[in-house]
Amino acid sequence: MVGERVNLLGLPRAQLEAFVAQRLGAKPFRARQLMKWIYRRGAADFSAMSDLAQDFRAQLREVAEITVPQIVTEQVSSDGTRKWMLRMDEVQGIETVYIPEPDRGTLCISSQVGCAMDCTFCATAQQGFNRNLSVAEIVGQVWLAQRELTETRAGGARAITNIVFMGMGEPLANYRNVVPAMRIFMDDLGYDLSRRRVTLSTSGLVPQIYKLAEECNVALAVSLHAPNDELRNELVPINRKHPIAELLPACWHYIDQQNGRSVTFEYVMLDGVNDKPEHARQLARLMQGRRAKLNLIPFNVFPGTRYRRSPAAVIARFRDILNDHGVIATTRKTRGDDIEAACGQLAGKVTDRTLVRLGAKLHSTPRTAVET
Ligand code: SAH
Repeated sequence: MVGERVNLLGLPRAQLEAFVAQRLGAKPFRARQLMKWIYRRGAADFSAMSDLAQDFRAQLREVAEITVPQIVTEQVSSDGTRKWMLRMDEVQGIETVYIPEPDRGTLCISSQVGCAMDCTFCATAQQGFNRNLSVAEIVGQVWLAQRELTETRAGGARAITNIVFMGMGEPLANYRNVVPAMRIFMDDLGYDLSRRRVTLSTSGLVPQIYKLAEECNVALAVSLHAPNDELRNELVPINRKHPIAELLPACWHYIDQQNGRSVTFEYVMLDGVNDKPEHARQLARLMQGRRAKLNLIPFNVFPGTRYRRSPAAVIARFRDILNDHGVIATTRKTRGDDIEAACGQLAGKVTDRTLVRLGAKLHSTPRTAVET
């Protein structure tokens, strides 16, 4: 073999077509066949691709590979939520969470190892920023989840109907790799999801929101968490760079570019911090007359945090005030918190935490290497 093999996982259609043409002298439809094998059928081995000629498969083995991250552990929550820890290197891992509901299956994926945004209420912030994930590492999370879910699912029903970038990392800080991954999620030869079913959640990187509006329309969720700059500066430090008066116009612009589809604002409910009736009224003023939805997230505790979750009655009252002002607000159901898979509880350390879990947790199933 000469040089490094190219990982075909994560090559958007146009790039894959260019690759088969330039490196293998093959027609574009070969790229389409390959995509079907990789994403629809979950193949990782060229030998299994029975409708490709033997010598083409041999050629592919020389110059290409399909490599996915390695699963370190899998945990299953009492509510059916599943969490996989994927190895990135000796020390670091990332986490991917599957949330089954009666009418859909949502996969919550990571975009970075760690995160640099430093939000005070998020467990991922505590580990700092390590690196961006590659396109293959982002798409690989879906590939692996689909394989694992198909193995345990009878009838072949579609397990993953929605993908959300609400795992570890700030997706817009890894724009270069996140956008090609989203194209594969929406490609009909990839995961064939509609734009509404792919959600990018951001802490508010304003220039990238404008860029995304031009280049790749997916559902947008914005982590607002506070109705004024003073409080938001403290909770979401990126606000000092891109304050609310810059962030909201970017969101309204995004809505305009999307033919009026709404933006979802996430709002974590922190006891005594951002959950007062006055905060709800301030929020309602910000949202007035806009196509916005508020998603209230009960805070999920993690070791070492100084925050507490707002009581259920406080959250309900906050929601009622918003609704009374004509703002659509819902409360997110907490899922998978018994396996630390809930929002903001993901902190991928392969060492220590995993070793503790492997022995201690009831549902932990240690997994070894993935065949490639
Ligand atoms: N970086 C992206 C994705 C973060 S995770 C973003 O900031 O949007 C998805 C959501 O969970 C975000 O709204 C995030 O603020 C929220 N979150 C983080 N920590 C949390 C915690 N401990 N409890 C509840 N929600 C949390």
